[in-house]
Amino acid sequence: MAEFVDFEEITCSRCGVKMALARADFRYLGHNFHTEVMRCPKCGAVYIPEELAEGKIADAETALEDK
Ligand SMILES: [Zn+2]
Repeated sequence: MAEFVDFEEITCSRCGVKMALARADFRYLGHNFHTEVMRCPKCGAVYIPEELAEGKIADAETALEDK
């Protein structure tokens, strides 16, 4: 079982500012998905929970970097 992380306490390791929830859209196997991710409002770094890091979220990372 994955442990729940207290999102309120997640800060960007680069900027030291609190991350905020943001919607991330991504495509996986021809389908469009969206999910809520914690994102740094300053540099745009995204915090990826372990349970989401196992595959599909990798595409979201790519999409965000393309901007
Ligand atoms: Zn940052």
